[in-house]
Amino acid sequence: MNLHTRIPFDNSYARLPGRFYARLDPTPVAEPGLIRVNHALARQLGLDPAALETPAGVAMLAGNGVPDGAEPLAMAYAGHQFGGWVPQLGDGRAILLGEVVDSAGVRRDIQLKGAGRTPFSRMGDGRAWLGPVLREYLVSEAMAALAIPTTRALAAVSTGERVQREAAFPGAVLARVAASHIRVGTFQYFAARQDLDALRRLSDHVIARHYPALAPGDHAGLLRAVVGAQARLVARWMGVGFIHGVMNTDNMSVAGETIDYGPCAFLDAYHPDTVFSSIDQMGRYAYRNQPAAAQWNLAQFASSLLPIMADDPEAAVPEAQAAVDAFQDQYQQAWAEVFRAKLGLAEPQDGDTGLATALLDAMAATRADFTGTFRALAETAADAPLPEHIASDTAPLEDWRRRWVARLAAEAATPADRQRGMARANPAIIPRNHRVEQAIQAALGGDFGPFHALTQALEQPFDAPADSPFRAAPAQGEEVRQTFCG
Ligand code: AMP
Ligand code: MG
Ligand code: MG
Repeated sequence: MNLHTRIPFDNSYARLPGRFYARLDPTPVAEPGLIRVNHALARQLGLDPAALETPAGVAMLAGNGVPDGAEPLAMAYAGHQFGGWVPQLGDGRAILLGEVVDSAGVRRDIQLKGAGRTPFSRMGDGRAWLGPVLREYLVSEAMAALAIPTTRALAAVSTGERVQREAAFPGAVLARVAASHIRVGTFQYFAARQDLDALRRLSDHVIARHYPALAPGDHAGLLRAVVGAQARLVARWMGVGFIHGVMNTDNMSVAGETIDYGPCAFLDAYHPDTVFSSIDQMGRYAYRNQPAAAQWNLAQFASSLLPIMADDPEAAVPEAQAAVDAFQDQYQQAWAEVFRAKLGLAEPQDGDTGLATALLDAMAATRADFTGTFRALAETAADAPLPEHIASDTAPLEDWRRRWVARLAAEAATPADRQRGMARANPAIIPRNHRVEQAIQAALGGDFGPFHALTQALEQPFDAPADSPFRAAPAQGEEVRQTFCG
């Protein structure tokens, strides 16, 4: 179809063997409608935002027209869902249009989520409804603004159709951009089929695309690289109070990006056992369990790679095990770096991790607001009290703060420099769950104003005006404690 400006697709995944995917076009929708195009991201991809907002552009984003050069496909993958093995999942409602090389030279997927049924849909309808599409848009773009590796939202469009869930909701399609959509589950899919040729092809594809410093065939190197990327990623999540909610192996990107935003949410009041997802009844993916869940997934990744790491897979076990075990140290180091930055500690000392942990303990005991507390530490002069509203009782936080102020004496930075640094490590604005929910509810009533306002506020999470309405923790009765799948 004619988009005025051609999208310069170069589809490396479509050049892999046919058993990696099913080729098919998106299923057209009744009435494509523009919700939002991400202009900055469009430009980064070399696309003309204005062209995407024309009727032809919106039709393309809804799956009603396939742009020249696209080779639409649904990717095959498998996965462990809440620990249970599922030999075939795959893109059941997402269709990859193709890949473009962005202005920084990085190859990126453009995928339509909610684009209709595919051979991998199983019992599903292939569609998405407005709520999860807006949630993914808001949260993934917030993560990007926080400089946390993530898939991006290029656009959200409405379909003019209804999607049946607990009730009938308006349908929507998210245009998602990712370094790739290759998952731990993609490797598991071929490992389970003992398709070693496919595993080698996939591993070399991922090495060339995401870890080009590695030599082709260095499957053990790939394992170590993905372990390191995930250790750093999860540490970053912990540093902003993010709970993914569905850390199944099919929702773990081998590129190290946060992917598949479902019933995810950010902590308001801090408690490490917090769970938002309605389907996570055992708390498998609670805040505190995220590093262990990631390491468990990486062990599955290692198992998938074993058959191509050595002629006798048994011989590769020690190396694979060592790579998975290394997660622990890498995660702890990344976590320490994240929390030292949050506390303005530029010159590491032995007790720093204990100091950070003691703060978190005091925060859990006082139900302190995660984002609000760290931001208050950044913004409050050492001789002024912390704002009362951040916790049920600020006394334990003040006790802790005396220890911290003593520790700060060992830092060379001036208080003003330290505060500036902390303001860049501690966002004032995150996509608070009640705000996301309010944006969704308003949109369901036809008012997209709150969604646009929140999206815009989240673009500058570190520089929010002191009186921004998006800073505040939920008032009593405003909290949203449960989130649902799409
Ligand atoms: P998720 O946990 O949401 O990432 O999805 C797990 C699997 O279910 C993936 O294979 C999805 O493609 C598939 N899936 C989720 N929702 C739908 C749907 N509405 N229609 C078809 N497949 C779906
Ligand atoms: Mg095929
Ligand atoms: Mg998924």
